[in-house]
This record gives sequence, C-alpha cells and structure tokens, in this order.
Amino acid sequence: CGVLGIYAPTQEVARLTYYGLYALQHRGQESAGIAVSDGLSINVHKGMGLVSEVFSDSVVDCLKGKMSIGHVRYSPTGSGLPANAQPLVVHYQKGMMALAHNGSITNALELREELGKNGAVFQTTIDSEVIINLITRYRKKSLEDSLVKTMRDLRGAYALVILAEDKVIGLRDPHGVRPLCIGRMREGYCLASESCVLDITGAEFVRDVAPGEIVVIDEEGLHSYRGYSKLERRSCAFEYIHIARPDSTIDQLSVSESRRRMGVELAREYPLDVDLVIAVPDSGTASALGYATTLGIPFGDGIIKNRYIHRTFIRPTQEMREVDVRLKLNANASVLKDKRIVMVDDSIIQGTTSSKLVAMVRNAGAKEVHFLISSPPVAYPCFYGIDTVKPEKLIANQLDIEGIQEFVGADSLHYISKEGLLRALGTDCVCLACFDGVYPIPI
Ligand code: SF4
Ligand code: MG
Repeated sequence: CGVLGIYAPTQEVARLTYYGLYALQHRGQESAGIAVSDGLSINVHKGMGLVSEVFSDSVVDCLKGKMSIGHVRYSPTGSGLPANAQPLVVHYQKGMMALAHNGSITNALELREELGKNGAVFQTTIDSEVIINLITRYRKKSLEDSLVKTMRDLRGAYALVILAEDKVIGLRDPHGVRPLCIGRMREGYCLASESCVLDITGAEFVRDVAPGEIVVIDEEGLHSYRGYSKLERRSCAFEYIHIARPDSTIDQLSVSESRRRMGVELAREYPLDVDLVIAVPDSGTASALGYATTLGIPFGDGIIKNRYIHRTFIRPTQEMREVDVRLKLNANASVLKDKRIVMVDDSIIQGTTSSKLVAMVRNAGAKEVHFLISSPPVAYPCFYGIDTVKPEKLIANQLDIEGIQEFVGADSLHYISKEGLLRALGTDCVCLACFDGVYPIPI
C-alpha cells in the first residue's frame, strides 16, 4: 500500500493529494481514497480500482480543505472488499478522525478479540480498524498521548497517516520497516510512503520519519514525539529490490542506485560469457544495467512492457492469468535472435511468470538464456504488509536452486547472495525475513 498526508494552509490539498497518489499507484491498484478536513469536519471519497478510476475532476473539486490524507491499497489475491478501502473515517467522542495504513499488525487478531470483548464493533476485516479503535479508546487527553499508548499495544510493521480536524499526523513502527518521509512545502508539509511523491506535490525532501517517531503537523508547524523507544532500524529490503519506484530515496538510500549496485554484485559473483544482457522491466532494469556495465557487455531491450495493462484489468481466473504475462511483456526478437542472453529480474515468487519469460526469450531466437536474480531466494512469507503468497506457493520454499532452474527452463540460474545484497545496500539495518526467515518482529 501507499500513504500520503498533506498540510498546506494556502492550497486546495485534494488535487495535490490526487496527483500525489498517482506517484504511489505502483504500491497498490486495488482501491484508492482521499480524506480532507476543512478544519471542522472530514470528508472522504474512496473506491475500488486505480486512482484514475476512483476520482473524477468533479469529485476532487468537491473535497474542500487544507489538510488531507490519501491511500492506495494492494491486495495480492484480489479478494479485497469495498468496505476495506481506506482512509477509514470515524466519529468519536472527541470529533472525527481518518486513518490510512501501510503495513501489517501481527497481533491484530488478539487486539480485535480483546476490543470485541469490550463491546467494539468492526465494519471491515482490516487491521487498520483495530488501530483506529485503540486510538479512540485511549483518547482521554491529547491525540498524541493516545497514539503513544496505541503504539505500545501494536506489534508489527506500520506507516500511518492520520487526519484530525486540525492536524495531520504521521508515524512509523519502532523498527521503521515500512517507509515514510517528510517534505516541506511552500507553506506546510507533506508526508509520503516514497519521496517520488514530493516531486509531484512540490515539496522539498526533509528527512525520513524515524523508527518509533510520531510527527504532528498543525498550524504551529511540525512537532516530533517519541512514540516508542527506538529499536534497531529494519527497513524492508524488498522495497529496494522490487516495491519502490527507482526515483525514490528511502532511509537515505536511493532505490535506483541500490538496484544498480545489486547488478554490480551479481557481476562480481557470476561473471558470465554472453552476448547481451536484458532486463525484465521495470524492476530488473537498473540491476541489469549495473551487471552489463560492470562486465562491458551490451545491454538491450529484449523484453518490452506494455504500460497500459494494470492488474485490475486482469480477470482473476487461471485462464486470464495465463494470458496476463503475454499481455504485459513481450520478447523483442530483433535483439534476441541467435544471442547468448543474460536475463535479470528482481525476484522469483511462484516461478510461473519466470518460466514463461524464459520460454518467450527462447522462442524469440535466443541461443542460451541465463537467469540472474537481484534478490536471494524468497523462501518465507512476509508478515509485515507485503503480501507475497502462501509459503507452499513460494517456489524457493519447495525446490532447491537446481529444481527452480529446471522449472523455469533456464540454462543457468543465479541468485545474488545475502552478503552481496547487503554490500549493495551498504547497511545491515534491513529486514531480510522473506529471504532468511529471521523475523525482526514477533509474528
Ligand atoms: Fe520486506 Fe521481506 Fe521483511 Fe516483508 S519480510 S518487510 S517483504 S524484507
Ligand atoms: Mg518484476
């Protein structure tokens, strides 16, 4: 998912938020929503589909106010319900509040049960509603105070943006697993999952929200509170590998630069004698370039992506999923014919897409196809908000590398080592749980 918050007293923020959500569309295509406060009450519009499907010009114009939050939602199975679209908005004894969440609360079921025993009712199946329930229940004095109490109860990974009638709040879990950054606007501030949003909203990057930090933006400016004693930072490594846009910087590390360095590490670990390096676009591109440049091998556009195919367009039947890959990606025979190819992708999840791509490249005339992956094998599920698939569907959970190579049909298959990935990232303050099964937060 992607979240965004804007406090800008001299601007109509709904339109800025709408544009900003476009820059987060890659983080979720299932639903989109914007909540705006005019200082007295909060209005929300949300729905299923892409930002462009959910919002029309007239809808955006109807959302009046100087502060807002926005959300795009991702759900891997496509089983999302309209009621689960965010931001969530509640009325409670202190007024109104809206909340948008990226991440996953690992003790949500426990908390939900506990709250239920005390009479809470729920209208959605999402853990974000548990968070909003806790906040309203703890609200005796200030909102900030109840947020600190709420954070003590929550386990898991979360980047939250909250809208009250007169302020916008952002907070990040104690390990900082999910990203959230701060931008300064001409007047006001912007919070966003990724810094690429700031270029759209006209904000200048200030810094990332610190792990366990609460930032409050109101008419007096930006205030920072320590919500939770700082734990060791564990930024999600998969953001750099696959999720985030290359033009974003997360926790002081450029996404495209880190991908390029993954390619350099792959070149160091597996220098292969081939004629051409190609990428599975888009997330494999920077690594493929890093690999090609390091070894002095030409890089070519061997696979072409259709930019107009979105997941909401794809009917979730097996048959349609088969067509899915061909609709999205096509081999470019004119550059592949009679060549020995290195093909770089960022990850292999179930292996079905990869096997189709290898076959596609072969059918286009490639003599050899060597498959390089800029992440270690994804062998464990993520419990922190990146819904991969059930462990038994993760091919690296079922097969060894040789078995995977056979399944995808490549002449050779190489994954970057964990050490190589850490060298590329230049830090070991990252979560690698889906690769090594070491979960930094109890699950
Ligand atoms: Fe990111 Fe993987 Fe950790 Fe999930 S388990 S937060 S996807 S690194
Ligand atoms: Mg990809």
